Amino acid sequence: MAISRELILEPADIRRISIQCACGAEAVFTLKKHAEIPSECPSCHKRWNEAFSALVSLCDIMDELEKHGLRFRVPDPESKLNPNKPAAKGE
Ligand SMILES: [Zn+2]
Repeated sequence: MAISRELILEPADIRRISIQCACGAEAVFTLKKHAEIPSECPSCHKRWNEAFSALVSLCDIMDELEKHGLRFRVPDPESKLNPNKPAAKGE
């Protein structure tokens, strides 16, 4: 029997977002208000038109789904790192 654990995250838990520019700079922000979404790289000032549009859409989608009880279920990294569980082979 395989036991896998999941973390259950609500949208509010994953509102912190980072995005990396091609120049290597990273912008970290909270995906809560459109005004907080960076429209350009803070370092090289390249416009992030496509990423910005996608993030605005994602922000709206998250707001909408949050109203309907959206929850993300992600594999618990702790269960993969559990030293008591032998590595699965040939299952
Ligand atoms: Zn950049």
